[in-house]
Amino acid sequence: MSIQQGRLQESPLQDAPARISGNLRAAAQSGMQRTTGKLLATQGYVVGIEISGSGARQSVALADLNGTILQRVRRPLEYVADTKTVLQLLDGMLAEVMAPDHLEDGRVLRVGVAIGGLVDATHGVVRTLHHAHGWDNFPLQDYLAERLDIPCIIDNNANAAALAEVQYGAGIGERIVLYVGLGRGIGGGMIINGRVYHGTTCTAGEIGHLLVKENGPRCSCGGFGHLEAIASERITAEQVFRLAAEGDRVAQRIVDDVHTYLGIALANIVHLINPGMIILGGQVAQAGDLLIVPLQARIRDLCLPAASEDLRVVQGRLGTEANIVGAVTLALQDI
Ligand SMILES: [Zn+2]
Repeated sequence: MSIQQGRLQESPLQDAPARISGNLRAAAQSGMQRTTGKLLATQGYVVGIEISGSGARQSVALADLNGTILQRVRRPLEYVADTKTVLQLLDGMLAEVMAPDHLEDGRVLRVGVAIGGLVDATHGVVRTLHHAHGWDNFPLQDYLAERLDIPCIIDNNANAAALAEVQYGAGIGERIVLYVGLGRGIGGGMIINGRVYHGTTCTAGEIGHLLVKENGPRCSCGGFGHLEAIASERITAEQVFRLAAEGDRVAQRIVDDVHTYLGIALANIVHLINPGMIILGGQVAQAGDLLIVPLQARIRDLCLPAASEDLRVVQGRLGTEANIVGAVTLALQDI
């Protein structure tokens, strides 16, 4: 054990990808050797990984089987990194959180990854990572499973965050929930009876690309008038909502647009899936009641009373941690 630890500390991880893999396996297996014969489901750990296309959010967490995060490493980048750089960064973070002395209670049973892009969750493939290049159709699930010798599950970050909010956050006990991640982009995740609803090709919940204004501004996907193009690019901070509340005209117009078009999108979804709760997460949701109160009123105005009378629109309880907690929650599914 101490020899393995020494190797981890001595070797500059970024310089030796082949050895990193060996060290990670050693770290994982050293935990496995300590298993004392109890059922796997009651002993061990899971690892959660968060990857964003912009580079701003890159983190790895080690959690126990109750979902409590025990170790956490974060390596934000100030630039959009290529695939290789991000994967090397991950190797370093994984080696840190999975150091042998962190795995005294068993081995890592599964790894969950929350990706800020389109994910084919059925096949474990990243279709695209927003803002980044080189990730198209990258088989991340198999890559990590092979590299770590641990089963891995990947999904879109809004789906993961939705699951986390339902299991540990604002949506506990709710049966049908729409999660909306409001940040640089707009993501969505639908939880139906405790499970993520993926749709046929895993694009269900991509609410950022709902058409809300014909001939509207161009979206990151190339389309026009999509919700994300109108409601996310200009509001990256809660200050916009404060300025609007203080009477700043420009900020007011931006906030009005958000309420108008987000309201249209959400009212349409309410009529389609009739959720009991809409949870607003991501950086923009930190604006709290300045966002939520007018939005709830607008949804009520636009919806049939029967569709919205029991609907609650709330702020996520996990805040900007929802993605990494979501990655852990993915890993814990069905354990
Ligand atoms: Zn779009």
